[in-house]
Amino acid sequence: MNLRLVGPTPLPPTVRDALARPMLNHRGPEFAAMQTRIVNSLQHYFQTAHDLLLFTCSGTGGLEAALVNLLSPGDAVVAVSIGVFGDRFADIAETFGAQTHRLRFPWGSAADPDALRAKLAEIKNARAVLITHNETSTATTNPLQELARVAHENSDALLLVDAISSMGAIHLPVDEWGVDVAVTGSQKVWMIPPGLAMVSVSPRAWAAYAHARMPRYYWDFKKMRDAIAKGQTSFTPGVNLYFALDAALDLMNAEGFENIRARHARLAQHTRAGAQTRGFELFADPQFASNTVTALRVPPGVNGKKWRQVLNQTFDTVIAGGQKELTDKIVRIGHLGWVNETELDACLDAMTAALPYAQAN
Ligand SMILES: *Cc1c(COP(=O)(O)O)cnc(C)c1O
Repeated sequence: MNLRLVGPTPLPPTVRDALARPMLNHRGPEFAAMQTRIVNSLQHYFQTAHDLLLFTCSGTGGLEAALVNLLSPGDAVVAVSIGVFGDRFADIAETFGAQTHRLRFPWGSAADPDALRAKLAEIKNARAVLITHNETSTATTNPLQELARVAHENSDALLLVDAISSMGAIHLPVDEWGVDVAVTGSQKVWMIPPGLAMVSVSPRAWAAYAHARMPRYYWDFKKMRDAIAKGQTSFTPGVNLYFALDAALDLMNAEGFENIRARHARLAQHTRAGAQTRGFELFADPQFASNTVTALRVPPGVNGKKWRQVLNQTFDTVIAGGQKELTDKIVRIGHLGWVNETELDACLDAMTAALPYAQAN
């Protein structure tokens, strides 16, 4: 099957083999050595010298962890949102009692740094700024470097970044840009199944942790940091996901970070050009088009749901639909992780061939 979601992505053979390895003692020396290797590699991809924590959960768990470890109920936060996942980050903050000020932009556009500056002038006591690096629902990448600079120049707020679908593939030097917490998820760029969230924590974030009073138990950063220092995890980890990640990081380290980023840029370019050649219209603002996912408008006269059904049933190809208000208005092609040009061409060809069977009537 040509699985072209934005996660879960296809698994390389060595990752699939790793998943089938026998269990080991998750509090023994083998696990400790594996976790050390994994953390060291992840620090490289996050471009951070600071703490890197892994939680057994999907990406959203990592977002919740970032909020509940660093904030108190009633804290003001500015939540920048350019789509479904930006809204989700804001919703989690609100759920735990943060005073959440949303800064929303039209879907398909990136966030405007000047608007963030104005918002921070208005909300003077913001304790955190929440930003999605790569908005998967609209295939748009925010200008995070500028947004981060504006956030730091205009506030003392912590910078919490959802990098779930970008980390490892799109440039995001966590320490250099002053990102206090960055979160990613295993089923995106990392070529392994869903179930692990990776979270970086800056010294500034640890200072906030000391005073933060939102309720937390499973997500407690300090519990996890102390456990990792002993070669363990705070609770039983998804052991075979660690096997898989260890194997995937071997592949990534062999390819090299620069090459991985260049490959994703090339595949994105290839997908956008191939889509346009075939007559499809791109959805996202071209200046901010994502390197891990491409969104296309459902062509006029085509039923988006039927299109994806035919693709799945007749052409053995799976792409993602639109979410929320973009349902049946766009489709999305994931080009992250273990994927090449041939597979993307096959996907675009199948999309073209399926069109006559997906007419709206
Ligand atoms: C996939 C994704 C999420 C949600 O992650 P889950 O693993 O489904 O919890 C959040 N934000 C972004 C940007 C994503 O791509």
